[in-house]
Amino acid sequence: MEDCLFCKIANKEIDSDIVFESDNVLIFKDKSPKAPVHLLAIPKEHIKSVLKISKLDGSIVKELMEAIGKMALEFELNKEGFRIVTNTGRGAGQSVNHLHFHILGKRKFNWPPG
Ligand code: AMP
Ligand code: ZN
Repeated sequence: MEDCLFCKIANKEIDSDIVFESDNVLIFKDKSPKAPVHLLAIPKEHIKSVLKISKLDGSIVKELMEAIGKMALEFELNKEGFRIVTNTGRGAGQSVNHLHFHILGKRKFNWPPG
């Protein structure tokens, strides 16, 4: 997808700090972290948001979720707890229109979220 920041990151046209990569999934550090650990997990295939998830092969969705869990363990977020966030649409703060899951950890999180 032209002019999509996360497609460019997935294609290595733009540098990122990658912590996990497979054929279908990439997880990299958020460049503007909102927590001591702040990662972004994406499918390499472009879909705009969770509303288009049916376009992805089910095995890729599973792979993405498993990779998120794997990184939560690798970054030792499991003991204190962590948060996975998917902002969807402008009203919720989605600024990049390529499905991504924020993985946030190593601080206290409020509920309900702001
Ligand atoms: P959202 O606002 O929910 O769409 O999340 C987009 C996230 O992408 C934000 O947390 C940004 O800090 C992050 N971001 C934007 N550009 C980059 C980049 N080049 N490398 C890593 N993270 C980025
Ligand atoms: Zn994209």
